[in-house]
Amino acid sequence: MSVSSGRQGAIAFFVIFGVCLVALAVALNVGWIVQNRRQVVTLLFGVPVFIAIITGLILNTIFIVREIRRNEQQDAFLNAVTHELKTPVTSIRLHLETLKARESAIPEDKRREFYDVMLADSDRLMQTIEQVLRTGQAGRPSEHRERVNLRALADECVTLTRTRRHLTEAQLHMLPLAPDDRQPEVSGDPTELRGAILNLLDNAVKYSGDDVHVQVYAVLVGDWAVIRVTDRGAGFAPTEAKRIFKRFYRTPGSLTQRIKGTGLGLFIVHNTAKHHGGRAFAESAGVGRGSVFTLELPGLPPAVQ
Ligand code: ADP
Repeated sequence: MSVSSGRQGAIAFFVIFGVCLVALAVALNVGWIVQNRRQVVTLLFGVPVFIAIITGLILNTIFIVREIRRNEQQDAFLNAVTHELKTPVTSIRLHLETLKARESAIPEDKRREFYDVMLADSDRLMQTIEQVLRTGQAGRPSEHRERVNLRALADECVTLTRTRRHLTEAQLHMLPLAPDDRQPEVSGDPTELRGAILNLLDNAVKYSGDDVHVQVYAVLVGDWAVIRVTDRGAGFAPTEAKRIFKRFYRTPGSLTQRIKGTGLGLFIVHNTAKHHGGRAFAESAGVGRGSVFTLELPGLPPAVQ
């Protein structure tokens, strides 16, 4: 029996146990009320006590089930992080060993390819480490604030993601501003904002599979600086739209089993939005129908020249 089915069994047991206890308490309560229906004082004292006991039982069951779920998510997270740390290190080690053993026999272009793979692997390693560190700081917003042009920052992130993921401009690009559009400027921490935008871009590419077509739009709408990342990838059921921003949460199903991740990216995006007085939200028409992720932050009026 797998660990996960063991947990499912435990959850089912506690839910059924809790429901039976509540049913028993309700039956006793009703029986007792019927028996004492003429004794008003006894009823006035007894009914609230019974209600308190039943509420306690329900809350207790909910708490236990939540804790089991959280443990389950933490286990999945640990597995994912271990995988995300181990895979690139193993790959770097393998390439270094090959280079050490047969350096002179390896042609120049192959050697360059090895270096590129090792650089990409160390990038992946850094990204995972940064995600874990940032999650640790999630409750403590950075004090640092400066004027940041979200469009320029998004442009920088688009270029970086294109290089990291070997994508063409057609596959990942910024949409131009219309003549009347205003620059989205905010007061924020550029490092934190960069991390959030990179997570959105990384997801859009990662969940697009082989058919990457990602567009990024950054503009000032009313008083809000908005970044919108649109992809034509895996999408998600509309009921998942809120849940995917929770810590460690990954949508269930074969897709998330195939595509590795830690369930931290969107949690970081959500926290970054919160720290900056804004919000992040996701929309999708359904599984397989692409998605749109929006980061909305309070905009600044144009700087006086
Ligand atoms: P991770 O990608 O590491 O699993 P995230 O917190 O970044 O963690 O995302 C949480 C979940 O949201 C993912 O597991 C995935 O199911 C869903 N998701 C995120 N971005 C996208 C996207 N662009 N398209 C479809 N699903 C997405």
